[in-house]
Amino acid sequence: MSETQRIHILPEFIANQIAAGEVVQRPESVIKELVENSLDAGATHITVLVRQAGKALIHVIDNGSGMSKEDVLLAPKRHATSKIRSAEDLMKIHTLGFRGEALASISSVAVLEICTRQASNEHGWKLMAEPLRDVSIEAIQQEPGTQIYVRNLFYNIPARRKFLRSDLTEFRHISDTMTRFALSYPSVRFTFHDGDSLIFDVRPQSQRERIRELFGENIERELVAVERDDESIRIHGYLGKPSIARSSRAQQFFFLNQRSIASKALSHAVYQAFEHLIDKSQHPLYVLNIDMDVSKIDVNVHPQKTEVKFDDERRLYTLVHEAALAALRNNSLIPEVHFGLQNSQAPFEKIAFGPTEAQNDMVLVNKMTGEIVDSHDPSSARTGFTVPERTSPPPGGFRTGAALAPPPVPKAEWNAAHQTAFDALFHEPTLGDDHSSREAEARFAATDALIWQLHNKYIFVQTVEGLMIVDQHIAHERILYEKALSAMNNDYNYAQKLLFPVVVHLTPSEDVLMRELDAELSGLGYDFRTLDEGLEISGVPLDVKSGEEASSLHEILEQYAEYAVVRTASGRDNLAASFGCRAAIKAGDPLSKPQMKKLIDDLFQCRTPEVCPHGRPVMIKMELKEFDRRFGRTS
Ligand code: ADP
Ligand code: MG
Repeated sequence: MSETQRIHILPEFIANQIAAGEVVQRPESVIKELVENSLDAGATHITVLVRQAGKALIHVIDNGSGMSKEDVLLAPKRHATSKIRSAEDLMKIHTLGFRGEALASISSVAVLEICTRQASNEHGWKLMAEPLRDVSIEAIQQEPGTQIYVRNLFYNIPARRKFLRSDLTEFRHISDTMTRFALSYPSVRFTFHDGDSLIFDVRPQSQRERIRELFGENIERELVAVERDDESIRIHGYLGKPSIARSSRAQQFFFLNQRSIASKALSHAVYQAFEHLIDKSQHPLYVLNIDMDVSKIDVNVHPQKTEVKFDDERRLYTLVHEAALAALRNNSLIPEVHFGLQNSQAPFEKIAFGPTEAQNDMVLVNKMTGEIVDSHDPSSARTGFTVPERTSPPPGGFRTGAALAPPPVPKAEWNAAHQTAFDALFHEPTLGDDHSSREAEARFAATDALIWQLHNKYIFVQTVEGLMIVDQHIAHERILYEKALSAMNNDYNYAQKLLFPVVVHLTPSEDVLMRELDAELSGLGYDFRTLDEGLEISGVPLDVKSGEEASSLHEILEQYAEYAVVRTASGRDNLAASFGCRAAIKAGDPLSKPQMKKLIDDLFQCRTPEVCPHGRPVMIKMELKEFDRRFGRTS
């Protein structure tokens, strides 16, 4: 190369590897691209088999059009596609693929084998493409259609391979993607194997039937149909009734012309329809199909093609919102009464309450729940409780202006640094932390404790030093977490037998988790066996409420899967944390005084009562001295 020319065009192989970084991020992306190709080829039966969550092998078989010898030779080249020809075609994409880079990217990071035959040909072709090797091709005998093998993904990019998550997590991504395909193409048969076990084999059927097959009858029974036609746009599909809303977004699907898409805006439109029907922490199930003119959308926003630009997003938002609202109304799920201005920021309203006008008392009512929050002093319910600021008090010891609220703690972000800061904030510096629980217990017991529940959420306890505020949900979470851990360590028999076993239907991902956690779940107190109809549960841990045997298991598995991604702890620890999180009493559950007392007692039996398993604080302590300081009472 001459001195004056430093820029050069990268060899095709390197260009492919760079592109692969965007198209192929994990085994799941390979499967998504291959199944899209099979669907584009008109297949009516697609089989997917993975080994080691796709890291060792991904095998996709279809009965689609197949390829000629010329085409299969071109297929793994970059920008080689049969789906578009011109820039105009890019404006109206009818196929799932169009960028012509999937096979090129895959063959730059794995060993790719394509076996394909067109029905009109006597025999087919087998093409081998490997990073940095010439492709080879030979004639073979096979059924019409295409079979693709992808072996040893990322074997030539160790950094990438190392970056992959556990098989469990990778497999979960794959099975989520397979579920999405199965839902959006109910007329196609999908057969899905994980190694030697069959995950699902769903035959052509209606979308509703497919939902039943994948998610179970209990879900299907709670669906309401959505149907809305508006000239060029049709919105149809299903919403889950509020009774089956979940704590995660795992069961939410948008399909735009059968392509799975992610859209915050459209999802918001659905949530708006569910406003006041479900709690803020819950997520509705939806499977919504949007069919519209392809020239009004642009899917060429991102290599993974899940982001889409709409010409008129506002209109689509309104349509989705109205369609969802109408569906819920038709099923009498939205009461006709409206609570005036629906302002979720300020759900409280003062209303007059009393037998006669003269005796009217003002009560503060939560408009969303109908619960009477305070019957005497409405203003107090609105006042947030305040805690001291971390910085030293200003001279004079009295602060004006807004007091600092307790630090909001997003789940995942609470870390050791926060913890230290938090400890410094709320603990007496003189006290050794090791003893603080025993100490606190003593202090609690020594007082004829005054216990009070605030907004069915926080428990206020008078202690010798002043005041302790406990988050009831987090406290219970801590208690259950420690119980679950000792149960799994066999220190504790935590099981209760059910008089009437219940049968639950597991989704493919849940099924995998169950197999993985078999021993741990039994240790925890679950007693189950697989039947043809589903999983029969005949025993559950003691603290699982009756009637929640099935739902708690779903929720625990869901939570576990979430934690498995963000936490590095062992499976057992994650399971205990998931159990704690899901089986604990919730914010909003009213507690009697004896229940509160029991909770506080149990809490101080814990080894680490101060923080929950994810490091969120369980309690806040405020000393009398602090109150004195704030009120300018120098002692
Ligand atoms: P794209 O799907 O964007 O066109 P790909 O790299 O995924 O790009 O595939 C390249 C081409 O190979 C496709 O356009 C198609 O013609 C052909 N092809 C890939 N997979 C199959 C298949 N399963 N059956 C038939 N043809 C296929
Ligand atoms: Mg493709």
